Amino acid sequence: SNSTLTGKVALVTGASSGIGEATAAALAAVGAKVAVAARRIDRLATLVSRIEKAGGTALAIEADIAKGSDITAMVDKVVSKWGRLDILVNNAGVMLLAPTAEADLDDWRRMIELNLIGLMGTTKAALPHLKASKGHVVNVSSVAGRVANPGASGYAATKFGVVAFSESLRREVYADKVRVTVIEPGLVRTELGDHITNEEFKAGLEHRLATMEALTAEDIANAILYAVCQPPRVNVNEILIRPTDQE
Ligand code: NDP
Repeated sequence: SNSTLTGKVALVTGASSGIGEATAAALAAVGAKVAVAARRIDRLATLVSRIEKAGGTALAIEADIAKGSDITAMVDKVVSKWGRLDILVNNAGVMLLAPTAEADLDDWRRMIELNLIGLMGTTKAALPHLKASKGHVVNVSSVAGRVANPGASGYAATKFGVVAFSESLRREVYADKVRVTVIEPGLVRTELGDHITNEEFKAGLEHRLATMEALTAEDIANAILYAVCQPPRVNVNEILIRPTDQE
């Protein structure tokens, strides 16, 4: 079996479905020990058994990334279990689309607390360990972190924020040999749209998914794997990846 990341420890947030789940499986398949975090512990347990059956090593951690105390406990659990942290994949996120005029402030708060503050807080908590290991931070932004579409004002604000945070972080930590990669996927077939509260935008996303060949979660996992498997001198800063069918 491929052992590119043997000896490395990874933490993937939002690993109970979609991109996070596929990324955790992909990292484990090339030898990393992988901690998988999210709120749905049953789904994480299923993923851990799947990884273990394939010969990998994994640990499930129940964590709400919108809660500061869960974030520090999560990072502590990984480091106390395996003694180090090499790769942090900040993937947990929600996309609550709505036009600004109709937007629910609680939806905006939820996105900012998870997509932005949660990602930033997790990065801060992990940073001492990543400096010690000359590690790698992978932040999952979006095409919406580069192109702000109508109906995505709140979501795009968080994903542009992730891009800005990542660039500032990169310049703070490159001298410590810590690498920073931002991933910007276009439309990927996952559970992301299930949580949209605006019916028109929820139906619109379902229509787009039904009428185009979207990316798979594994396509994004492959992009992340490419970035983290490069030699230490190579810092893949950004990967913008759309389905061929997407404008
Ligand atoms: P999914 O909805 O399938 O996955 C989202 C993950 O985030 C789940 O594991 C969910 O787990 C977790 N999550 C949600 N809320 C919390 C929370 N409060 N604390 C911890 N974990 C949480 O969607 P995707 O796989 O598509 O999304 C992953 C990332 O990719 C997101 O950041 C999204 O913005 C981004 N992205 C997705 C695109 C797409 O088209 N699908 C395009 C561009 C970017 P649980 O509910 O168990 O906590």
